[in-house]
Amino acid sequence: MSEIRYDRLHDVHVVIAPERLHHPDETESSLNKVAKEPYSSEPCPFCEKNESMTPPEIYAIRREGSFPNESGWQTRVVPNLFKAVQIETPLHHHFGMFEYWEGFGAHEVIIDTPRHTTSMCEWSEEDAIAWLKTLSQRVGDLRRDHRITYISLFKNEGKNAGATMAHCHTQLIALPLIPKSQNELYRRLLEHFQTNGHPLMESILSHEEETQSRIIEKRGGFSAYCPYASGYPFEVILSSLHERGDIDTLKEEQIGEIAALLISTLQRLKRQLGVFHFNLWISTPSLIPNEGIDSVDVDRFAIRIMPRLYRHGGFEQTSGILINPVTPELAAKLLREKSHE
Ligand SMILES: [Zn+2]
Repeated sequence: MSEIRYDRLHDVHVVIAPERLHHPDETESSLNKVAKEPYSSEPCPFCEKNESMTPPEIYAIRREGSFPNESGWQTRVVPNLFKAVQIETPLHHHFGMFEYWEGFGAHEVIIDTPRHTTSMCEWSEEDAIAWLKTLSQRVGDLRRDHRITYISLFKNEGKNAGATMAHCHTQLIALPLIPKSQNELYRRLLEHFQTNGHPLMESILSHEEETQSRIIEKRGGFSAYCPYASGYPFEVILSSLHERGDIDTLKEEQIGEIAALLISTLQRLKRQLGVFHFNLWISTPSLIPNEGIDSVDVDRFAIRIMPRLYRHGGFEQTSGILINPVTPELAAKLLREKSHE
């Protein structure tokens, strides 16, 4: 049973999850093994026809007439076998001067594709559309559980990004609390909204569209750009001037535009970087109103792609300051270049 503990000194929450000790990548012997061979050669539990190797599915986009936990799917969502948290009664305890919650929440794995695709760069627009629709369905479904206040949606692709399974997948962690970083972000968004009357993300993107130096491409209502203070070389944000921050409010047409822009951006990154590892984060404002204002009104939809070309060391870890050797202006210029293929 995991616990979410509150660190009074650093004002952050920590998930203590002994179950994850059994995770294939979190023991020293398996770490050594992984260092020698990139990924296991054993049958892949995320591939089509290996459905029996995962826990029963929570959701899937399936061909009409196909059955749950059998082949015939486009995306499939299963509980994380080595979950950090799980849906149970959220009990809040005090223990002397400390406090903790029993590890309440949801930890799900979205299997992005039935094929053994190991990079998002190989996806079609149709794959990206099915993926976005699946994320939207899961957020919409979990939103109905009022004990959940925050959902984290992210992808780790490649070893440098912390991936432990080669087959493309996305993770969802839903929590009964709002992480400190999200609270701080919300405070900044709210302050800007109250002072200027529109969301900070909208101001930033308007400025980027005016100056153009960091814009890569625009598709419909969405733009891809390298953020002014990129922490990672070739970091890219996909965002919109007008679309709200919560993924489950996006309409079919907008999902199509994001999918097209995402696939194009990934192909541009691959042309410049070759095979690259990255973390990808999808905007997920808190699910409850904050200070009487719905968080989605002060936020905008965004996908952040963070290529992991370097490993971070002690300075980054302790100071929280990232060192990026590539200017975002140069990265955007290179990413704008047309394909010579
Ligand atoms: Zn596979």
